[in-house]
Amino acid sequence: MSPLKHFYNMQLGIIDLSLPSAVTIPLNPEQVLKRIGGIAMNRELLHEHGDAIVFGTGPLTGSFAPASSLLTATFASPIFTHVCHVPFMLRTGPAMKFSGIDFLVVKGTATELSIIYVNRGNVHVRPATHLRSVPAQDIMNALKKEFRPSGAALVTGPAADHGILYASVSVEGHGSLDKAGLASVMAAKNLKGIVFGGTGGLPFGRDNPGQGKELIQRISADRNFIHRGFAALLKLMDGGKAAGIIPGKAKKKDMACYNCPAPCMTHVSFPRQDFSLLLLDHMGVTALAKKTGAHALPLLRRCLQFGLDPAGVARRLPDGKTEAEWLFAIEKMLTEAERNQIAAEQSADVPVKNHALFGGGIAPIPPLDTWHTRVGLAMILGVCPLFFLRFPTISETDLLRFISQDEAALTKLQESLTASIRSVISD
Ligand code: SF4
Repeated sequence: MSPLKHFYNMQLGIIDLSLPSAVTIPLNPEQVLKRIGGIAMNRELLHEHGDAIVFGTGPLTGSFAPASSLLTATFASPIFTHVCHVPFMLRTGPAMKFSGIDFLVVKGTATELSIIYVNRGNVHVRPATHLRSVPAQDIMNALKKEFRPSGAALVTGPAADHGILYASVSVEGHGSLDKAGLASVMAAKNLKGIVFGGTGGLPFGRDNPGQGKELIQRISADRNFIHRGFAALLKLMDGGKAAGIIPGKAKKKDMACYNCPAPCMTHVSFPRQDFSLLLLDHMGVTALAKKTGAHALPLLRRCLQFGLDPAGVARRLPDGKTEAEWLFAIEKMLTEAERNQIAAEQSADVPVKNHALFGGGIAPIPPLDTWHTRVGLAMILGVCPLFFLRFPTISETDLLRFISQDEAALTKLQESLTASIRSVISD
């Protein structure tokens, strides 16, 4: 029996938006055992199905392993012009898995703007023309009424509807680490978003709750465990002085994703101005802060409403303007003339090939010599890559032991994982 059996539904959803048709079929157990999951499986499914977007979970997604929040998307990036893997956290991974499927292949182009709903192992395609040009947060409010149950959603905003290359997928209206153009690829398929019902569950391993607690105990004295929140992670990044951009007047609360014991996000609210934001995109906020200083958060709010990548926007903004002028410049990015200029740009601030391979949005946290291997492993196994980077005392064997503690099975899993990470990084 495969040790992965308790960690997956063993179900694959396949959608052809051009028909539209939607089916759920059993996963090939040998293929899963060989590739383990996450981006290594996504990559194979992408090769099998051609022009598609593949969404996938890892075996540990939704499990008792710490930070088991991960969902990944694999596709041909129009920004980096090769296959990229973008991570999504919050509740996205568990919501997909608890909707009864482990991987989802989206092929073809819909004749009208559409949205996918997944629940109880069934996949549906529904019209979404009423969501065109609607701000991302308002889309979330509409979806919560329209789709019940609704465990998590990925959507695109008005920027993707307008064909902007630097459009970025929004998770629950909070933005994401999509800096590789996934939102514009979804828009080209007339796909507005995906909603996961997320009410099911899986058994996972009997010893897993205790193993999770042991790992948390091990990292509890680590400075990255003690120093929490968005600003604490910014300080680990080169040029992280941007941490100072979070104004002292804001009310702040550190936030974590599904089963993560070490929050790296912060919710900030400004009661007087009547707005609040969940800060989760360290590279995007840093880029805006470098360009606009203390004005970064109002500008971030506008980026999130439009569904724009703040880093892509920061590259486009002129220097030395007022906040009102910068806000106007962002609105102008939705116009035709600006759209063409943006499409002609290359992503200047993502110099490292492997950083681009993983979507360009995962913060470059030292030690950088093992960065790509640890990010790849996390994105195959289904745990948050930022968490795995912040706690190097957690090894891949620690994570594999959640799947099996039998030494022979562990050796085989280790071999498959090593081969899978090699194949992913060689792209
Ligand atoms: S490390 Fe940050 S992004 Fe990752 S799971 Fe924890 S809170 Fe979420």
